[in-house]
Amino acid sequence: MSNTPILRHRTVSVQVGNITVGGDAPVVVQSMTNTDTADAIRTAAQCFELARAGSELVRITVNSLEAAQAVPDIRARLDKMGCDVPLIGDFHFNGHKLLTAVPECAQALAKYRINPGNVGRGKKRDEQFARMIEFAVRYDKPVRIGVNWGSLDQELLAKMLDDNSKLAKPLELEEVMHEALLESALSSAAKAEEYGLPHDHIILSCKLSDVQGLVRAYRDMSKRCDYPLHLGLTEAGMGSKGIVYSTAALSILLQEGIGDTIRISLTPEPHAKREKEVIVGQEILQALGLRSFTPQVVACPGCGRTSSDYFQRLAEQIQGWLREQMPVWKDQYPGVESMSVAVMGCVVNGPGESKHANIGISLPGSGETPVAPVYEDGQKTVTLKGDSIAQEFQALVETYVQK
Ligand code: SF4
Repeated sequence: MSNTPILRHRTVSVQVGNITVGGDAPVVVQSMTNTDTADAIRTAAQCFELARAGSELVRITVNSLEAAQAVPDIRARLDKMGCDVPLIGDFHFNGHKLLTAVPECAQALAKYRINPGNVGRGKKRDEQFARMIEFAVRYDKPVRIGVNWGSLDQELLAKMLDDNSKLAKPLELEEVMHEALLESALSSAAKAEEYGLPHDHIILSCKLSDVQGLVRAYRDMSKRCDYPLHLGLTEAGMGSKGIVYSTAALSILLQEGIGDTIRISLTPEPHAKREKEVIVGQEILQALGLRSFTPQVVACPGCGRTSSDYFQRLAEQIQGWLREQMPVWKDQYPGVESMSVAVMGCVVNGPGESKHANIGISLPGSGETPVAPVYEDGQKTVTLKGDSIAQEFQALVETYVQK
């Protein structure tokens, strides 16, 4: 089956450390820590784990003098661990002061995130924004102008509402707010360029927590500029809600070729791993055929024909094991990330799906002979039985990858 390729919206490419965002570069997956940045040991450890899971950029909050002072230490710790993931500093309210007080922080970061709604008020706003851009220019760092619905520039909004009220046919409030979001991002980017930041040092984002509003904002943004766009549904929420809403919003945009980097903002559930947002981001891109990260396990949902939950556990085990191998395998076996492995629960769809996968196993359903045929490249190669089917199948997958 041939699929229509996704035509990406043309953007300039921006270099963030060793990662390119925009242009012809693949859509980049990024994430953010939730440790106290002032705690360099824990923050470096979480950055390392996120990078290991596949986060190509990691953002850390820089909200205090202690946090800013910890940034060079975090960078050094990561370098020592052999992790070169670029770090992005997330600044609100006091970024100008922190960069001035700790120039080593300005140097150690690969990009600054600036929220135009949280830079200051009145005349100070421009001065403080200009000060941050001055550091970006001095240290040759890109910035993300990240507008957020929850912290929209109130002065700009008030002015636009005032102008709107003077129109013969005023726009609905929602329309004015939509325009204010875009205007905040685009006028701040224009100002950054006025202050000397090159065009190819700017990435934009315009986040909302509402799916349709987000889609509209990014569609319009992509028509009005060629800056790379950072996609993310803000405050997406917990569990399946966060995943589903983020996937719904981002998939529409990515399918239309909009978006150069993505971050899935999931509210962590107790004890859940922070890396989950990275995995969800990768899976969205892989599902759309934009990138491949890990061999995909095809597994049926199971039904009344399933003899036990054995196959679900095997599917989960294989997917987890494949993911674990990827940091080494991706260099050792180029292309392995595109392969598929089927783990199926009975004879109804088991052999068919297993034959379509690179390697697949059809486990016995209820009432079937307790044997599990294995297929490689569409051909049955062996039939497993007994208590060690899981281990034997895992060994066969490993041999297949090596071949
Ligand atoms: Fe049920 Fe078999 Fe289909 Fe799996 S493959 S969902 S066990 S009928």
